[in-house]
Amino acid sequence: GYRKGGYHAARPGDRFAGGRFVAQRKIGWGNFSTVWLAYDTLHSRFVALKIQKSARDYAHAALHEIELLSAVAKGDPTNSKCVLRLLDHFKHAGPNGQHVCLVTEFLGDSLLRLIRYNRNKGIGLSRVKEICRSVMVGLDYLHSELGIIHTDLKPENVLLESTINPAKDPVRSGFTPILDRPVGNQYGGTVISFSEKMLKMRARRAVAKISQRRVSLGGVGAELEKERCLDGISLKCKIVDFGNACWADQQHAGEIQTRQYRAPEVIIGSGYSYSADIWSFACIAFELATGDLLFAPMNRQGCSEDEDHLALMMETLGKMPRKIASSGTRSKDYFDRYGDLKRVRRLKFWPLDRVLVERYSFSEPDAKGFADFLRPMLDFAPEDRPSAAQCLKHSWLN
Ligand code: ADP
Ligand code: MG
Repeated sequence: GYRKGGYHAARPGDRFAGGRFVAQRKIGWGNFSTVWLAYDTLHSRFVALKIQKSARDYAHAALHEIELLSAVAKGDPTNSKCVLRLLDHFKHAGPNGQHVCLVTEFLGDSLLRLIRYNRNKGIGLSRVKEICRSVMVGLDYLHSELGIIHTDLKPENVLLESTINPAKDPVRSGFTPILDRPVGNQYGGTVISFSEKMLKMRARRAVAKISQRRVSLGGVGAELEKERCLDGISLKCKIVDFGNACWADQQHAGEIQTRQYRAPEVIIGSGYSYSADIWSFACIAFELATGDLLFAPMNRQGCSEDEDHLALMMETLGKMPRKIASSGTRSKDYFDRYGDLKRVRRLKFWPLDRVLVERYSFSEPDAKGFADFLRPMLDFAPEDRPSAAQCLKHSWLN
C-alpha cells in the first residue's frame, strides 16, 4: 500500500499540479490507484483525480491508460458516447515516488453499489434496459470506432451519472469545496482566501433558494447509500477503468477479465477479441436484473475454479460444441477427446429462461424477452456473438 513505489497518501486540502487541483475526499481505489474527488480551481468544477502507485510498472500502465483515454476523448468531442472523459494528466512527486495522475470527469456510484443497495434483488427491467443501452453505446464506440477491447468489464467499472452530481451541478448539490488543508481534523477550521469565501457564500445562497434535496459532504458520490432509492438518479452510465484495455491488434495478456465475467475462450486459451467484452456485458445485465452473479465458480473438491466455471456455463447454456472445446491451448487440461469435462461428470442443465422463471420469479414473457436478448451474447463461439451495434438494435432494448 502506502510505501515506496505504492499509493500516494493524500489528505483533504492537498494541492496538485502546481496548486490547481485541491483534494476533497477519497472516493475509490483499485489495485493500482487511489481515486479522489478534487476541485479544479482553474475551471471551478469538481473532477476525479486518479493517483497511480509510483512503481515503474504502474506508471507504465497509467501512461497506457492515458493513451487510450486520449483516443476516447478525441473521437467523442461532445462527450456523449458513454465512456469516461479524460480532462488532463500530470505527474506528482510525493514521499513514495513519482505518481502519474489522471484527471477525469467526476461520476457517481458504480453498478456494484447499485446492485448492493438494492439488496441484491435486482433493479427492475426498465432500469436494466436503460443501463444496457448506455453500456452498449460505449462498447460500440470502443469496438467499432476505436478498435479498443476493454477486457475488464464488470459492475465496478461502470459508473452512473447522477442528476445531483457536483461535477455537473455544484450549486444544486449543495456541495462547497474544501479549498485549503483543514486545520487539525476539523473541516470547520478551514482558512480560505477572500475570493474563495465569496465563491462559497454565493453557492450557499443559491442552494438556499433552490429547495431541492441537498447532499452533504459525505453523500457526494454515495447518493445511493443515503437515499436507498433511485429517485433523482439518472440511469445513464459510463464505462471506466482502462488500466487493462488494449488495442485489438496489440494484445499482450493471455489471461484477461475478472473471474466471474471471463469468457470461455479466455479460459481455454483460444484467443479473444471484442466479443469477450460482449460476454462480460451479458453477465452484468443478468446481475443487474437478478442481483446474483450469472456464474459464481469456486474451487471444489477435485476440480479447479476454471473447470467449475466451464461446468456452470454448460449447465446454463448447454454443452460446449466439441470443436470449440478442443480449440484452445489449454483444452486438454479440461476436456477429454469426446469434448466432455474430465473431472466434472454430472451436469445439471438449467437453461437461462427457466432459471429466470423458476429461481427469480420472472413472468414467462419477461423471462423470454430477457433471455432472447442475453442468449446470443453468451454463444460459446465468440464469432457468432452479436456486435455491440447489433445488440443496440435488438427489440428488447427498443
Ligand atoms: P483501478 O485501475 O485502480 O481499478 P479505477 O479507475 O477502476 O482504478 O478506479 C477505482 C474506483 O474509483 C472505481 O471503482 C470507482 O469507484 C472510483 N472512480 C474511478 N473513477 C471515478 C470517477 N471518474 N468518478 C467517480 N468515481 C470514480
Ligand atoms: Mg477498477
